[in-house]
Amino acid sequence: MSDKLTKIPESPKVGMVSLGCPKALVDSERILTRLRADGYAFAPDYVGADVVLVNTCGFLDSAKEESLAAIGEAIAENGRVIVTGCMGNEAEVIRARFPDVLAVTGAHQYEQVVDAVHEAAPPTRGPFVDLIPAGADGEVKLTPRHYSYLKISEGCNHSCSFCIIPQLRGKLASRRIDAVLREAEKLVAAGTKELLVISQDTSAYGVDIRHESRTWKDREVRAHMTDLARELGQLRTPEGEAPWVRLHYVYPYPHVDAIIPLMAQGLITPYLDIPFQHAAPNVLRAMKRPANEARVLERIKAWREICPDLAIRSSFVVGFPGETEEDFQYLLDWLDEAQLDRVGAFRFEPVEGATANDLPGAVPEAVKEERFARLMEKTEAISAARLQAKVGRVIRVIIDEVGEPDEDGDMGATGRSQADAPEIDGQVLLRDVPQDLKSGDIVDVLIEDADAHDLFGVIA
Ligand code: SF4
Repeated sequence: MSDKLTKIPESPKVGMVSLGCPKALVDSERILTRLRADGYAFAPDYVGADVVLVNTCGFLDSAKEESLAAIGEAIAENGRVIVTGCMGNEAEVIRARFPDVLAVTGAHQYEQVVDAVHEAAPPTRGPFVDLIPAGADGEVKLTPRHYSYLKISEGCNHSCSFCIIPQLRGKLASRRIDAVLREAEKLVAAGTKELLVISQDTSAYGVDIRHESRTWKDREVRAHMTDLARELGQLRTPEGEAPWVRLHYVYPYPHVDAIIPLMAQGLITPYLDIPFQHAAPNVLRAMKRPANEARVLERIKAWREICPDLAIRSSFVVGFPGETEEDFQYLLDWLDEAQLDRVGAFRFEPVEGATANDLPGAVPEAVKEERFARLMEKTEAISAARLQAKVGRVIRVIIDEVGEPDEDGDMGATGRSQADAPEIDGQVLLRDVPQDLKSGDIVDVLIEDADAHDLFGVIA
């Protein structure tokens, strides 16, 4: 054998710890996509990595602590650590605690992160690197192949008093509509069955670029939520099916009304994620929430008349400064009327740099706890009743995971209905599924039972 065999250079390996919200996950995917294009491989653990990237979240103080703990763990386990993401804007805090970090970059500073990785572990260049197989679309995805997040903009033009996102991520910067649609088309062609549209404020999409039009498939399409929804509703998978299109972070501006008929026609998923945060006018004013004047209860009623299957998810903050017992009771009564399908709740927590910290009327921790428990009790009862009403119906379910056969050879699976977004909402648990069922399949399911969060059923 020749002793002149060319040694294939080994690609440097990058480890990634991704914390925070779906938007941060999309950032992690973009960074990894760039790095793979540069010839890097990925290490599944600290030990095999030449450098570890920690994508941090800096939204709440508790998230910052979690980010600092993750950085500490990566330093202890590997030692060569680059920090990026929202908490990267507080480089001094990170460097004071961990002087050994190699670099700190902020949210969306893709170039800087990639440069820092190049410096810490120089890329291997050469023809062999190009033999590394790419995924179907050449992009790295951290979500399962059958669903994908589609980020349509960065930043936010509002100034909610509890939030520092505009400081962290800047003003609204919308992506071009044709670029968004091209990405969505690629994802669907590569196997995505469900697109999750995300941004800080999806209903404000395109405001910053004056809803500019671009040519897409021989027609003019505006950078506007309605046009976006309509176009996403035209996409088809390679099997000719319409993918599910789920809208997150929508504020109840009047133009949202135009989306509901698209849901009723089956073009987009009858699901709206609207972070109301509160209902009492005093609290909403103190929170400086966008679109809080809109007569929301009437509109929800009208939306459900047009699209009876519309599922609404929301989140609420209890114990906001100045929230009185009357305000809180107002919220509970409002929830009785609104009958939201899914609700997440948070106890107010001051965030460094947020103007809400200076508001008078701090609510004692014990009162926050008590209100939190009352809110959860109320929303669980509503959720249980709404899920119970689905028992006996046949609904569409997307399969997330198929289990192993038990000793009798029976298999179960978990999936989600159109009312359930991945990771934040409930599940549909299936019994006795066929052996050839796969994640990403969309099937008709007869609902046999329900609890406060999940549905149980069998393929119809
Ligand atoms: S709308 Fe308000 S809460 Fe949402 S990102 Fe903008 S400022 Fe923050």
